[in-house]
Amino acid sequence: MRNSEVQPGLFWLADIIAGVPGMDKHSAFIIVGAGPAGASLAVRLSRSGHKVLLIEKDRFPREKLCGEFISPECFRHFDELGVSERLLARGGDRIVETRFYSRGGRCVSVPTSWFGHGPFALSLSRAEMDLELLTAARRSGAEVVEGARVVSAAVAGGRIASVDIRLSDGERRSVTGDVFIDATGRGGALTRLASGAERRPSGPNGLVGIKAHLDKVRPEGGVCEIYFFNGGYGGLSHVEDGKANFCFLVTAKTARTFIGKTNDLFASVLDQNERAGYRMSSAVPVLDWLAVSVTEFGSKSPPAIENLIAVGDAGAFIDPFTGSGMLMALESSELLASCITRERLESFEPERSRLFRRRLFISGLLRRAAFIPAAASAAIAAAGASSHIRERLARSTRPYRRAV
Ligand SMILES: Cc1cc2nc3c(=O)[nH]c(=O)nc-3n(C[C@H](O)[C@H](O)[C@H](O)COP(=O)(O)OP(=O)(O)OC[C@H]3O[C@@H](n4cnc5c(N)ncnc54)[C@H](O)[C@@H]3O)c2cc1C
Repeated sequence: MRNSEVQPGLFWLADIIAGVPGMDKHSAFIIVGAGPAGASLAVRLSRSGHKVLLIEKDRFPREKLCGEFISPECFRHFDELGVSERLLARGGDRIVETRFYSRGGRCVSVPTSWFGHGPFALSLSRAEMDLELLTAARRSGAEVVEGARVVSAAVAGGRIASVDIRLSDGERRSVTGDVFIDATGRGGALTRLASGAERRPSGPNGLVGIKAHLDKVRPEGGVCEIYFFNGGYGGLSHVEDGKANFCFLVTAKTARTFIGKTNDLFASVLDQNERAGYRMSSAVPVLDWLAVSVTEFGSKSPPAIENLIAVGDAGAFIDPFTGSGMLMALESSELLASCITRERLESFEPERSRLFRRRLFISGLLRRAAFIPAAASAAIAAAGASSHIRERLARSTRPYRRAV
């Protein structure tokens, strides 16, 4: 029985804990976090015969703040993970082009085919995508526990001996393992717990990501539109069930002036970008606005704990406008699974750094330009002049591909 189906007040607690698969067992690999990095790693390791426990604090499906642009390169991974057909069957929009709009309505376009891995990207909610990957992890033989937050890590002799989990009802359990994987996303929760580090507060240069699914957006299928405005940018695309996802980033300073008034912030964004105003003037949120702070970009220092490895955003976070964070999560997990299979765990960090270094550097430069309105408009004008420059720029934020 799933915990969420249990009525409070009954004598169910002991049954649930006894029935939570994987609890109080020793697994070779303990993966914390079931986003694309954690779930895909669980599939790959379980298929190679490893004993895997995947621990997730939320219950899926759940909404997740994201642009929900699943780049075409992800489909090679989805094919291997056996979820491509299932994801496509869930609907969503097939994105063949991304258009970048300056405040005044100037536009440059980047065809999805320039990424070199197929004709379209998929715009599908994270609720759907993450659920599909989690289900694949279960199917592959991994033990999966949802509604279980890792709250502490016991470290002895430079290694994690066990982690403590708090279930949704407050009960705590302890789990032991050989190798612990931090797949908890940007916050790197497991690394912080194991190393005793505090979460860095959002500084004056921090950003805030905000998103909602919207109804009544003027239709424009097959396109993801990116809008620049004063102090931020945002992306709009249709997802499944006729809804659209609008996800935008603003400076923490801007977000602070609109605390508790997200609809006003949304209206101000629409006022500032002509095209955004045209597409979303009648739009209404069908879900509550989600907001997260985004404090750090780029590679993080590898955890200084012998049996702890970070994958996905917990290892390196790329700028959202590239629409390739999920791809990097899948790539880092593929690489880690390969290092484990080759029994070359020590080569994971140097190989990961080589794989992502160039992309992270160039995206960082573009992000700085995106937050200076004049620079964003100038970049759009310059890129608009030459499709060659646009293609080079688009490709520089993706995996390296040798020219043929
Ligand atoms: C504003 C914004 C827009 C973005 N848009 C896009 C986009 O359009 N396309 C794209 O490809 N990428 C995008 N990204 C990036 C993308 O969301 C991430 O790169 C991707 O989700 C990383 O996957 P992950 O598995 O590493 O982490 P996550 O997807 O964050 O998954 C981490 C999981 O760990 C769980 N967890 C956390 N702490 C604990 C704990 N203590 N115990 C147990 N479980 C825990 C969380 O609940 C979560 O399910 C965007 C990011 C932002 C901020």
